[in-house]
Amino acid sequence: MSEKVAIIGSGLIGQFWSMIFASGGYSVSIYDIDDKQVSKALTLIREKLHLYEQQGCLRGKSSAAEQAQLISGHTDLAECVEGACYLQECVPEVVDLKTKVFQQLDIMLTDTMVAASSSSCLGPSQFAGSMQHRDRVVVAHPVNPPYFIPLVEIVPGPWTAPDVLEKTRAIMEKVGQSPITLRKEVPGFALNRIQYAIINECWDMLKQGILSPEDIDKVMKDGLGPRYAFIGPLETMHLNADGIVDYCQRYADGAYKVCETLAPPPIQYDLDTAGKVLNEFKDTIPLDKIPDRRQWRDDRLAALATLKRQC
Ligand code: NAD
Repeated sequence: MSEKVAIIGSGLIGQFWSMIFASGGYSVSIYDIDDKQVSKALTLIREKLHLYEQQGCLRGKSSAAEQAQLISGHTDLAECVEGACYLQECVPEVVDLKTKVFQQLDIMLTDTMVAASSSSCLGPSQFAGSMQHRDRVVVAHPVNPPYFIPLVEIVPGPWTAPDVLEKTRAIMEKVGQSPITLRKEVPGFALNRIQYAIINECWDMLKQGILSPEDIDKVMKDGLGPRYAFIGPLETMHLNADGIVDYCQRYADGAYKVCETLAPPPIQYDLDTAGKVLNEFKDTIPLDKIPDRRQWRDDRLAALATLKRQC
């Protein structure tokens, strides 16, 4: 008998989580406050699993049909949660809503269950503080689309029990995600802190007129991006010299001088600069072509994920 995972909220992220857990052999129950959304989600999941199977990017060892069999829909929260060892909340990013949902879950939690939130920005301290079982709550933040981008940021609240962090990390590894564990809750977690540092510098170079929007994006997609798809910044330092100590001896002073010229954060992303970038995108990615471009992005990420699994 497979272990059970419960998904609360069956939108975009709830659907991806369901597919990821089913690919790892878990039995998955999905609940949504909107009954129609549950059946819509089940249909979309089935379609995506079969499509990925045809495209050769289905995860897990079983077929699309076998994985779909593991996923069931529920319109009653208690029924969805009953017998689950792990819950993954995926409701919209609204603090009052998350607080309400975790209050509802509180009476269903046991001392061994894990209640994880997919929250992108809100840490456990912002929505779980008044719960009796707040020690069982953690953030497990995926990156869109999580089926093809494996990073999961595990973020504890001040009172999260250590075994909750360990169990969450183990379950993420079991289903093929790539978890990192923050030792404490910080705004932006890790990914967005690093992402905003990059955008800050891009924005400043745009404002100073040093690079065009097209060339800014090229720095990432044709420069840093390909490298970072395989090795991180610390390993890059290690490999770009005879080890990281040698790198610091050779390049730390030069890097420090460059960093002294960086714009001091925080930078406000102003609408005047945003308008100029929008104008640059008017022929290549006009607003009505964004869904097509998102699909293209996800297809390319699927191909990259397949390649990375072979490396
Ligand atoms: P979504 O709007 O696609 O889906 C949310 C679902 O929650 C809807 O189906 C809605 O009916 C349901 N819902 C609303 N209230 C509910 C309730 N009380 N109980 C049960 N279900 C309820 O949202 P999403 O994009 O899937 O995002 C969900 C969470 O994941 C958010 O916290 C978001 O920040 C996070 N996240 C999103 C992305 C992304 O790119 N979309 C990436 C990482 C994390």
